[in-house]
Formats: sequence, structure tokens, C-alpha cells
Amino acid sequence: MTKTIALLPGDGIGPEITAPTVELLNKLGDFTFEEHLFGGISIDAHGTALTDEVTAACQRADAVLLAAVGGPKWDTTDPTKPRPEQGLLGLRKALGLYANLRPVRPVPALYDASPLKREIIDGTNLLVVRELTGGLYFGDRGRRGDTAWDTMIYSVAEIERIVRTAFEAARSRVTSVDKANVLESSRLWREVVKRVHAEEFPNIELEHVLVDNAAMQLVSNPRHFEIIVTENMFGDILSDEAAMLTGSIGLLPSASLGGDGPGLFEPVHGSAPDIAGKGIANPLAMFLSAALLLRHGFAMETEAAAVESAVDRALADGLRTADLGGAATTAEASQAVLNYL
Ligand code: ATP
Ligand code: MG
Repeated sequence: MTKTIALLPGDGIGPEITAPTVELLNKLGDFTFEEHLFGGISIDAHGTALTDEVTAACQRADAVLLAAVGGPKWDTTDPTKPRPEQGLLGLRKALGLYANLRPVRPVPALYDASPLKREIIDGTNLLVVRELTGGLYFGDRGRRGDTAWDTMIYSVAEIERIVRTAFEAARSRVTSVDKANVLESSRLWREVVKRVHAEEFPNIELEHVLVDNAAMQLVSNPRHFEIIVTENMFGDILSDEAAMLTGSIGLLPSASLGGDGPGLFEPVHGSAPDIAGKGIANPLAMFLSAALLLRHGFAMETEAAAVESAVDRALADGLRTADLGGAATTAEASQAVLNYL
């Protein structure tokens, strides 16, 4: 049966990297694409970054593939004016996305771009699973006199669902990262992780690592990790740290998953307004986002791995777009990858 993918090309280089991604996905399965305006382009047409119609269409779809939103045209400090990023927040909320997945898989051909030694990054293939809707970023905060506070709050149910997402993505090992020697919310986190593990995933190996230690091991022994699951702020920090293993955020995809509805798949990079329309954008992060869609959205592991391997081989052949110091165009880069599928 055909699966429906809601397609949100968005702004800037978005449309340029979306078109070849549709071509790529069409080679791998039977998909129906429904394209919608989202972000700045939707503000221009409808006065809002995300219309109710697009929200409903995304909720009905089997997966949502987003390129990028925003650009100088819509930059404003006026709080009464609509902003493209509001579309993202609205969509995340409407889809109930509580898990953010950021794979870090350094490509051998680009090892030299990393600030870390080749021997250290070689063989790294890890996934950071970050809780997205709770913790310090959403707790009560305030000021009184010359003091200020933020609170980290987690419920059992919030921890259970993110931890299940992590175990479901794991082949053999999950590392739960917390600060249980200090924080009460981390002690609850650890209790819940242990129980969910024992009751539902006893065949997966589980370890608990303190966040400071995890930060250290990420750059001293990243191969150690398969899945890192952690709360919102720790995940925010660790996923950017882990991204540097690859040397650039230019090739990184991400997935955001929720309960029963569709997941949202998008590159980590932005809309790159400075190069929009020139036909030189690097489509690889978008291709790798499509791979995540196949893996985590549709359980099509073989096809997902085929995309990743095609990207690796094209880079090994010397494919370099401008952001990687080369001269390949979007069209040339796309063809180089498609040739290997
Ligand atoms: P945002 O706030 O949306 O994250 P940003 O300006 O912080 O946007 P990007 O839009 O990712 O970040 O752009 C940062 C730089 O990286 C720009 O110079 C841009 O041209 C470049 N860049 C980003 N994505 C790509 C891509 N896919 N191909 C080539 N260059 C890119
Ligand atoms: Mg940015």
C-alpha cells in the first residue's frame, strides 16, 4: 500500500534539496507525496507559517519530510509579526513529537574534517535520543529580586515513553545519561529506565553514565556508544558535541518522533539563504533525513542503509559540494548518489 509523505520544502535552499530527495525516495518505494507551503513562504501566502490545513494534512500523513524554514526576509523583532520558526514549534506540538533523534555517523572520506583524530572517530555510529518536551526548558522559571530560577521536572510517563523510543531503536546497547548523583529528577529517570529495561527490553544491554562522564567519553571513545538516551538539556548539549565528530553539521539529519502519529524528518542545517537559488546546496543531509524517514518512519531498514551507503560511496569517489570545499552542484551531487542506488 502506498504511504503518504507530507512534503514541506520551506524556504531558502529547501525546494532545491527537496526535489532530488523525492527522486531518491521514488527509487526505493511506492510513496505519495503531498507538498505544502510551510514557513516564510506560507507567511507570504497566508499570513501564518503553519495553516490549519497543513497541520491537518501532516497529522493525516504517514511521515513528514521538511527541508528548512526562515530567511532574512522574515527576520523580525516585532512580536506581533509572524515568524517562520513558529511553524516548526506549532508542528512539533500538533504532532506530539517528544523524541529527537540525531545519528552521528562520521563518513570515512571526510574524517579529516573532524577536529578529532581519525583513530578516535573511526567506526563511530551512534544515535542521540533526546527528550524534547520536558525538563529544564519547560519547567517553572522566574525571578525575585536579585535571584532567578529554572526547574527540572519529569514525570514517570514522560520518562517511560522516551526510554521506550531509545530501546526500540537499539540493536544491542543503550546508554542512559543522567546526573543521578546530584539531581532528584535524574534519580527518578534512572529508576524508570531500570524498570522499563527489566520489564520490556531485558535482551538489550543497559548502562547508566553521568552526563559529565558521557561528555568526556564522546570525544575520547565515541565508538563505545550505540544509543544515548537523555533528558532535554543534556541531549541538547551532547548532540552538538557529538555532531563535531563528523566535523560539520552540514551532513547531519534528524528525526523527531511522537506517539502514534507521523514522525518529522529534517536536516539539522538551516535554509542557507546566502546560497539559495544558486543550485549549489548540498543535498546530502536531506538524503540522510530521507534515510531516517525510511528507518524510523516506515521500518524500511534495508532501503535506509542503501541510502547511507550510496552517500558514503559518492563521498569516497570524491564528491564535494561547495560547503565541503568542492565545486559539485546540487544536481551533480544528487546524481552521484542516485547512481549508487
Ligand atoms: P538556522 O537559523 O535556520 O539554523 P543558520 O543561518 O544558523 O540558519 P544555516 O542556514 O544552516 O544556518 O547556514 C549556515 C551556513 O552553512 C551558511 O553559510 C549556509 O550557506 C551553509 N549551509 C547550510 N546548509 C547548507 C547546505 N545544505 N549546503 C551548503 N551550504 C549549507
Ligand atoms: Mg542557526
